[in-house]
Amino acid sequence: MSINRELAAHFDMLASLMEISGANAFKVNANRTVVRVLESLDDDVAQLAAAGTLEKVDGIGKGTATKIHAFIETGSIPELDALQLELPEGLIGLLDISGLGPKTIGRLWRDADVVDRASLRTAIEDGRLASLPRMGAKTIANISDSLDFAEQSADRTPIGVAHPLASALVDALGAVAGVQRIMWAGSLRRGCETIGDIDILAVADTPADLIEAFTSRDDVLKVLVAGDTKASVRLDAGMQVDLRVVPDDCWGATCMYFTGSKEHNIELRGRAQSMGMRLNEYGLFPDDGDSTPPQDRGIAPVAAATEADIYAALELPLRDPARRESGIDITTADAPLIQVDDIGAELHAHTTASDGHLSIDELVDAARRRGMHTIAVTDHSVSSVQANGLSVDRLLAHVQAVHEARDRHPDMTLLAGSEVDIHADGSLDYDDDILAQLDIVVASPHASLKQDPAKATARLLAAIEHPLVHIIGHPTGRMIGRRPGLDPDMQALVQAAASCGTALEINANPRRLDLRDRDVRHAVAAGCLIAIDTDAHTDAHFDFLPYGVLTAQRGGLAAAQCVNCLPADALLAWLADKASLAGACG
Ligand SMILES: [Zn+2]
Ligand SMILES: [Zn+2]
Repeated sequence: MSINRELAAHFDMLASLMEISGANAFKVNANRTVVRVLESLDDDVAQLAAAGTLEKVDGIGKGTATKIHAFIETGSIPELDALQLELPEGLIGLLDISGLGPKTIGRLWRDADVVDRASLRTAIEDGRLASLPRMGAKTIANISDSLDFAEQSADRTPIGVAHPLASALVDALGAVAGVQRIMWAGSLRRGCETIGDIDILAVADTPADLIEAFTSRDDVLKVLVAGDTKASVRLDAGMQVDLRVVPDDCWGATCMYFTGSKEHNIELRGRAQSMGMRLNEYGLFPDDGDSTPPQDRGIAPVAAATEADIYAALELPLRDPARRESGIDITTADAPLIQVDDIGAELHAHTTASDGHLSIDELVDAARRRGMHTIAVTDHSVSSVQANGLSVDRLLAHVQAVHEARDRHPDMTLLAGSEVDIHADGSLDYDDDILAQLDIVVASPHASLKQDPAKATARLLAAIEHPLVHIIGHPTGRMIGRRPGLDPDMQALVQAAASCGTALEINANPRRLDLRDRDVRHAVAAGCLIAIDTDAHTDAHFDFLPYGVLTAQRGGLAAAQCVNCLPADALLAWLADKASLAGACG
């Protein structure tokens, strides 16, 4: 994490804890302003501090500069440390519950003795919450729902958090002397949206050196187990990581076993049994009926070294890890799955005109550096007030600015578009004569995300069937671990989308991953076009793309069904007449 982002996160927490503690609104807001300043600052804060020019930045006053200097020197902000000591620790865990702002959390703490999730649950059940002023039955029901939702996802970590941690570990441990192979397995390798523990497998000449390098890392909070070939730790970041050093000759069998899924492994073991064999983490063996494991009796495996060998010996197609899930027929081969490199167009991105951090030119540059041939500028529409949505006049001026930018970037296809709000009733946030002036229209739900399923279905169908809409952005509006979003009749949506030639988006932001994997499966089966977009608000957001692609792979998507994989001319043809690709897939 860059120091700017790290500091922004600290100031955000400071503002929230101040608000919980009842600090005056002016001081709280000053710190929130600092968060925004830091997030959009191009210069490195540490360099500004070293040069003594922090206070020249708009929005950074003397007090803030002192805090920043303290952070750079000590890694913490004294005021934040003091608040963390003063407030009950469990209150921070309430900030992740959708619908509970810091102000409300402060009230619950002071007036109803709520100090963590458990006491919040009790206060709901014993009526203490209902006795507070301005706490209606509906508000309490919403808080209760959000609490359920947060508890369900409590033990799992979003892939967007787990993946960078695992990458850093595998890179560092892979450089330890004598390490032959190293990779992660488990739900992370399968590309699941949330991860339990990180499982790392390795082959090493001297396992003890690797175990030592692993358990003595700076980011290890606690060593849970440290044996000769296996160790488990808890990281500062909270996740548990298991490292196993395994023999090279059964690498494939071990990878399969620890990649799972459990259901997939059970199916494979059943297949082995039906062929007179036994499959375990050491290999695929002939089944001689002896209950002592074959590897302990010196029995040579039929296959063990690679996953491909084992699938071949089971007379099954090699299954991509993303497709090793229940409900997928193990005997039928997948069409070649979409890969990150197949994608040449980003069709949903924001600039400083709404709530993005990049100018048009910076956005083009970010896309170019990722090898894209096309970038769409799709800022928010007027109703998204919090996101600084564009009025019609501002939109038209912005479109003009995008057109002018084309001269400066002849190597890129630059599309002028909008991410237009889909209102609760299915109508769109701009009139058709305005939408008709855009190259691309991404229509997305942002508000009224607790609609009942029938209304949500009608709302999304109206947008899908709208002739000027190309893509439905993050169709359900869910946020993983925060809010479930809309629950429409997905079968109806994918059928309609397929027949209109409208694409449904997989939003690659790892907090969204919306459509989710199971919806993608329905979409693929229906022959509906899919878009995979990062919804970039910053340069770094472009790197979300692999999460979207993993979700697409889990749904069985091939490149041919994804509009971001079209060459520029074919993409333009679809944008000019989306019906031209209606029913083209599947
Ligand atoms: Zn959006
Ligand atoms: Zn967006």
